[in-house]
Amino acid sequence: MKVGFVGLGHMGRAMAARLVAGGHDVTVFNRSTAKSRPLANAGARVASTAADACQGATAIFTMLADDPAVENVVFGKDGILGALAPNGIHISSSTISVDLARRLSKAHADARQRFIGAPVFGRPDAAAAGKLFVVAAGAPDAINEVQPVLDAVGQRTFNIGAAPEMACLVKLSGNFLIASVIETLGEAMALVDKGGVDRHAWLEILTSTLFSAPVYKTYGTLIADRKFEPAGFAVPLGAKDIRLALAAAESLNVPLPVANLLRDRFLRLMANGGEKLDWSAVGMLSAQDAGVTRN
Ligand code: NAP
Repeated sequence: MKVGFVGLGHMGRAMAARLVAGGHDVTVFNRSTAKSRPLANAGARVASTAADACQGATAIFTMLADDPAVENVVFGKDGILGALAPNGIHISSSTISVDLARRLSKAHADARQRFIGAPVFGRPDAAAAGKLFVVAAGAPDAINEVQPVLDAVGQRTFNIGAAPEMACLVKLSGNFLIASVIETLGEAMALVDKGGVDRHAWLEILTSTLFSAPVYKTYGTLIADRKFEPAGFAVPLGAKDIRLALAAAESLNVPLPVANLLRDRFLRLMANGGEKLDWSAVGMLSAQDAGVTRN
């Protein structure tokens, strides 16, 4: 399939590489042009604007940091909206707000284009291995049409409904849960650590018994190892997702008391120079609060 791909950050560059490896005809665009080079070496075409990346494409992926980035690339000068062919499909894989997903749906429908919400679960290593989980929402015919490219980036696609913003809500709820796990892992680990228990041995017990889910293993290991750099998913992106979950919750009148606590945890990290850390660094704050000195 002829596809465009806009946004070659930690996730996008790995996803675009999977599309190239899967035999698709891929044209990439990234704001910082140097990031396109490895994709060009792998066989992708490099576009000079997001609009160029749409030329002749059946579908265009966006995998960008946040709402302003997506708004810029879709609605801005040389943006996707003015360039995607009628019936063309915008596959939005960034984690964005429910509100923006609604606005994108309407704008693309007005331009006689189609829009799919297709955020993903999985970190950059999963993206490189084609092991992401895609949560898709949109018109079923559009999702069916792009299934071959969704299969190239993910191990499974879950179809959650016809309204693209539903996929965003699922993604935000999932990241809220992961952040909650990071916080509670950090609290429990600080407790045993201060009491003199080896935290790696503690993690081994828990993840081999009741807590064998990947989320406990992945984040428990990062917290126990104090390995927060290089960031696979950086602190500002985690903060953004909690903010977006709270915004969605507010519009639906759903109290999320734990999300409010997490918001402050992220703010504390960012106020103290933590922007470059992985979001698992939230799990280190309890050890600091408890005066745990062992590294
Ligand atoms: P990242 O490494 O920070 O990459 C962000 C991308 O957005 C870069 O291509 C960046 O371009 C571009 N960008 C930022 N602001 C822009 C703007 N104003 N105009 C145009 N382009 C702009 O982020 P990531 O980790 O790949 O995450 C991308 C999205 O996936 C986010 O929504 C994130 O929440 C979501 N996600 C991430 C993970 C993960 O584990 N990392 C997992 C699932 C979902 P430059 O290169 O020019 O800066």
